[in-house]
Amino acid sequence: MGSFDALVIGGGPAGSMSAILLAEAGWSVLLLERKRFPRRKVCGEYLSPTNWPLLEAVGVSSRVREAAGPPVHRVGLLWGVTRLSAELPRPASFVWGRALGRERLDTLLLERAIELGVTVRQPSSARSVKGDGNGFACRAESEETGEYLEVRALVVIAAHGSWESGGLPTQEPRPPPRPQDLLGFKAHFREADLQEGLMPLICFPGGYGGMVHCDGGRASMSLCIRRDFLSRLRRSSGHPAGDAVLEHVFEWCPALWPILSAAKREGPWLSAGPIRPGIRPSFSRGIFLVGNAAGEAHPVVAEGISMAMQGAWLLAQRLIPRKREMGSPAARREVGTDYAAAGGGASHAASAPPRWRPGWRCGRRERRRSCPSSGGSLPSSRWGRG
Ligand SMILES: Cc1cc2nc3c(=O)[nH]c(=O)nc-3n(C[C@H](O)[C@H](O)[C@H](O)COP(=O)(O)OP(=O)(O)OC[C@H]3O[C@@H](n4cnc5c(N)ncnc54)[C@H](O)[C@@H]3O)c2cc1C
Repeated sequence: MGSFDALVIGGGPAGSMSAILLAEAGWSVLLLERKRFPRRKVCGEYLSPTNWPLLEAVGVSSRVREAAGPPVHRVGLLWGVTRLSAELPRPASFVWGRALGRERLDTLLLERAIELGVTVRQPSSARSVKGDGNGFACRAESEETGEYLEVRALVVIAAHGSWESGGLPTQEPRPPPRPQDLLGFKAHFREADLQEGLMPLICFPGGYGGMVHCDGGRASMSLCIRRDFLSRLRRSSGHPAGDAVLEHVFEWCPALWPILSAAKREGPWLSAGPIRPGIRPSFSRGIFLVGNAAGEAHPVVAEGISMAMQGAWLLAQRLIPRKREMGSPAARREVGTDYAAAGGGASHAASAPPRWRPGWRCGRRERRRSCPSSGGSLPSSRWGRG
């Protein structure tokens, strides 16, 4: 297959943005993506205002805006029977955030990379990456034909996210399941009676979620729930996981009923996780990590896409002027150290778990004691205790 200046592993926002920025600067780039696009993905799909300057700079902001849902200018809270909402402060740029389905956003970004000359192989998974004195040798496998591809690159950028395990040196081994693991679910709905421009946070014991209009008249719902809660729900309801979680949300959050009473789910529930909020190394064994691979915020922050793309920008700004030196491990280390010091794309938000009070249990007896509608406490990250 030959040799490239850069190999990018993963075609999410971090990977595509890395490929776009390097290709714009004249680098030859190969991007490997495990899935065939368009593909749906667990995500709230909200693009906060912080995304626009970079999307504008790489020439895709108008395409994203045309495809996306309405401007989001109100936040809300659904808690028991309580529905609260408030206007968001107007962003400094005067451009509101919007939501766009990941099957469309990720495809738009990848198409832009291809326009700029990036070679894309999908569905193709990177299986191994080995460094030597002269760069890296990578082995990839087609997910459709099983064929292997050998490729060389001076620079390797790991943008494979954080929810999948694998044999790459930058992928963490799958940790043993823990009761407090947070698992993500997502579905699209048509005909949801959600006020235009409103993005409510949905609170329920064991987790939280959000809803927003994304594109083509669809509303996107994403939910996070603790593993121990999910196990109990599945045992008691006997339903598939996504339906069991929604049933639980309905039980505890009647404020959601009018929004979804006439709505129809489009496509199956998706699930992912465990979600691993936290800051990880952004340079390891000569490989640069971007996006979720380098650090991940709690989904409630709804800035993960922006963090992923800004991490790509931070890295590209440091790589581009030193292209000629990138065959040298010492030069890569210097860039890696500088990139890590700049934040490596991981915001401080990544290390700040939601501060919620403990005390909730998943069960009817406890519900009577501390139902949110009767003034109970908010859900906590330690529900499973006691
Ligand atoms: C429930 C939930 C709601 C969220 N809501 C929002 C929100 O509203 N707004 C927001 O900004 N963020 C949100 N986020 C966070 C956001 O989804 C992530 O931060 C973002 O997807 C990170 O982008 P990424 O490119 O780093 O990784 P990903 O988007 O995970 O992309 C990684 C890509 O790499 C590919 N890949 C993996 N392994 C390999 C391999 N070996 N070879 C080739 N390809 C590989 C995968 O197929 C994938 O396409 C939410 C997250 C969750 C869990």
